[in-house]
Amino acid sequence: MKNFADLGLEPKVLRAITELGFEEATPIQAQSIPIAMTGRDLIGQAQTGTGKTAAFGIPLINKISKDTDKIVALVMTPTRELAIQVAEEIGKLTRFKGIGSLPIYGGQDIGRQIRALKKKPQIIIGTPGRLLDHINRKTIRLDDVETVILDEADEMLDMGFMDDIQSILKLVPENRQTMLFSATMPPNIQRLAQQFLKDPEHVSVVPKQVSAPLIDQAYIEVPERQKFEALCRLIDMESPELAIVFGRTKRRVDELSEALQKRGYSADGLHGDLSQNQRDTVMRKFRDGSIDVLVATDVAARGLDVSGVTHVVNFDLPQDPESYVHRIGRTGRAGKEGTAWSFVTPREIDHLHLIERVTRHRIARKPLPTLAEAIEGKQRIIAERLLETVDKGELNEYKGLAIQLLEQYDSVQLLSAAMKMLTGEKRDSDIQLTPEEPIRVKRRYNSGKPDLRNGRRPSGNYGGFRSNNGGRGGYNRDRDNRGGYNRSGGRNDSYRDGDRKPRTSGSDGRRSSKRDESYNS
Ligand code: ADP
Ligand code: MG
Repeated sequence: MKNFADLGLEPKVLRAITELGFEEATPIQAQSIPIAMTGRDLIGQAQTGTGKTAAFGIPLINKISKDTDKIVALVMTPTRELAIQVAEEIGKLTRFKGIGSLPIYGGQDIGRQIRALKKKPQIIIGTPGRLLDHINRKTIRLDDVETVILDEADEMLDMGFMDDIQSILKLVPENRQTMLFSATMPPNIQRLAQQFLKDPEHVSVVPKQVSAPLIDQAYIEVPERQKFEALCRLIDMESPELAIVFGRTKRRVDELSEALQKRGYSADGLHGDLSQNQRDTVMRKFRDGSIDVLVATDVAARGLDVSGVTHVVNFDLPQDPESYVHRIGRTGRAGKEGTAWSFVTPREIDHLHLIERVTRHRIARKPLPTLAEAIEGKQRIIAERLLETVDKGELNEYKGLAIQLLEQYDSVQLLSAAMKMLTGEKRDSDIQLTPEEPIRVKRRYNSGKPDLRNGRRPSGNYGGFRSNNGGRGGYNRDRDNRGGYNRSGGRNDSYRDGDRKPRTSGSDGRRSSKRDESYNS
């Protein structure tokens, strides 16, 4: 049953869904909504971008009575950005029904949240840390909560929220409906579900291939020092409408976006060290097309929901296959085509094969674009831009001089010179980035029989987001940044929440169990 109209929803909810432009239910929605509507507990597993928010949001909103002024529903999300994103979608779905909802997250002034709570929202969407804060201050009471949703549960546990979630769930009346949604189902999620869900129905939409088939995947073998040149050629050749280029570290992102700008590309960088204001500015520019290359770390790009990304480039190969899947999933969204390119240094070929095995997808090897291909690509774009300008008209002011010039010079010469100018000379040609160490795969992973299946963390560098640049990886450090958050208005892009506990030891274990899951699924 794919048609929303067949689900027996209230007309007001159905109307909101129509307004959102959803034509039919996604598989996870089609499977989850009828079960959720019976009041049963539910575990839903599906990849990122499959519509899990509406999968719980629709039955939730359908169920809530408009007349109550109590908090009757609690949604927990891992990050402030996801809290905002979910709250936005819930807000749209409640439009005609008139139910209040409020996102609650760390980093925002708590006084402001307390004032907003006085408006008696029925649905709270919050990050665990800040929720506990409010519970302790008695500004949020869970006594009347009838529905609890754990959204992106795997991410929440990855971020060390297990204790907080447990404390919160113990405060919600037992006679409730609990739904847990997650992209992966590592053992710690299963344990959490066992502890807090009652006889849950499992719904799982696990694609045969981990990565979306609409995405063209290719790799280019290129030495570390030639990566930048390769990137420029690739961009020139492919002339992406919107591209996300992934770098391994924040330093990498800074250097790379700066280098691209020097070469005349409209590029900018996104990572955890930027203030919220800076991030918002970058994202706005990317969305409205005033930059067309976004350079980002994994963390900064997680959950990023920008439509129309035509290209993803892994400038550096990610540490683990799951990140690879997350990264390339930024393109090819909403059924559109996308292309993912990866730069692989000669020593990282084994790591690439590991990614191929885990994702069960062969990644085609392509040669480095030649200079001629790059130039041709660039010229094609310039020609397109010229023709667009012709189509737009309003050229009268230029025509006088054009006629004069054409009387004196050859038309082909003139047009070529104009195109050369538009193409832009390459400035600052000797750009050198700080090299990144290659990712090395421990020998046993190359055997074709990785012993990751037994759940033990490998001793090698491959495990747990530990990066090569010493100590804690970019993942952790990005996440640690809580600087200057004070949001004004929601965005869809997802950044890590500052509202969380510091990671303690054992995080690697969590990571590796998550990885086991993707090996087994
Ligand atoms: P997930 O939580 O599974 O990662 P989201 O709930 O964030 O996915 O949904 C991803 C995107 O898909 C959102 O922009 C959402 O509005 C959109 N979406 C959800 N359901 C549908 C649908 N049935 N039809 C079209 N778009 C949808
Ligand atoms: Mg989600």
